[in-house]
Amino acid sequence: MSATRLFTEADLSAGADTELTEAQAHYLRHVMRRDAGAPLLLFNGRHGEWQATLSLRGKKGAAAQVAAQTRPQAAEPDLWLCFAPVKRARIDWIAEKATELGVAALQPVITRHTIVERVNVERLRANAVEAAEQTERLSVPEVRAPVEFARLLADWPAGRRLLMADETGGGRPIAEALGELDKAARAAPWGIVIGPEGGFAADELTALRRMKDVTAVGLGPRILRADTAALAALACWQASVGDWRQPTPRLSSDYRSSRGAV
Ligand code: SAM
Repeated sequence: MSATRLFTEADLSAGADTELTEAQAHYLRHVMRRDAGAPLLLFNGRHGEWQATLSLRGKKGAAAQVAAQTRPQAAEPDLWLCFAPVKRARIDWIAEKATELGVAALQPVITRHTIVERVNVERLRANAVEAAEQTERLSVPEVRAPVEFARLLADWPAGRRLLMADETGGGRPIAEALGELDKAARAAPWGIVIGPEGGFAADELTALRRMKDVTAVGLGPRILRADTAALAALACWQASVGDWRQPTPRLSSDYRSSRGAV
C-alpha cells in the first residue's frame, strides 16, 4: 500500500503523535478506506518530510505516529506570483499550477481593469495544499489576501526584483532578458507581475516600468490569457533563474497524495 502524503501545521519529529484534521481523518477513513497502521508521509514546510503511520481516534478522528525523516527541509526559490484575479475555475487552476511550479507566495492584485475583485483565499489555499501534497513539495506557498495595485508597488520590498509581463511590446523576449541577468540578480528574491484579462492601464504600465530592479518581458507574439501568461512566465523563470537548473531528484513514485493516486 503506498503512503498518503499530507500537509500538517504541526511540528514534526521522531515519536511525535500528530493529530490530523477532521477533513484529513474523514478522507483517510472513508475515502481512502485506510486502517490503523496505514503508511503516511507528512510535511509542514519547516521540518522536511517524515514517514508516519495512521492511528484511528474514536469514531471519526485520526492521528499520525511520526517515525523517521525521509527528506530534510530544502530551500525553495523566493518567488512571488502577483496576478489579477480571474474567474473561479481559472484562479483555482492558477493556485494549483503555480504551486506545482514552485512559487513561494500567491498575491492577487486588484488593477484598474480587474473584473473579479472577490477572492476566496481559503479555497485558494486548499488548492495550494492539495497541489503541494501531490507534487511532493516540502512547503505550501503563502496565499495572501488581494491588494490594490498601487499598494503592491508602494510596499514592494527593497531588493526584490520585479518581472513584469508586458503584452504591449515594451518588454524584451523573456529568455533573452533572463539569460543576461548577472549573479546578484539571479540570487535575489523575485516577484512576477501579470496583468488582468483587460490588460494593464497605461498609467499602471508606466508605474511598473519606473520601479527599481524591474525587468519587462514579452512572452511571445501572441496575447496569452492571464492564467497562461502567469504559468509561462513562471516556467521560464524557473528554467533560467530558479530550481529547474538543478537535476530532478529521483523521488520514489511510492507517494500517494491525500487526494488519491498521483
Ligand atoms: N487585454 C490585453 C490586450 O488585449 O492587449 C491582454 C491582456 S492579457 C490577456 C493578460 C496579461 O497577460 C497581460 O497584462 C500580460 O501581463 C500578460 N501577457 C499576455 N500575453 C503576453 C505576451 N505576449 N507578452 C507579455 N505578457 C503577456
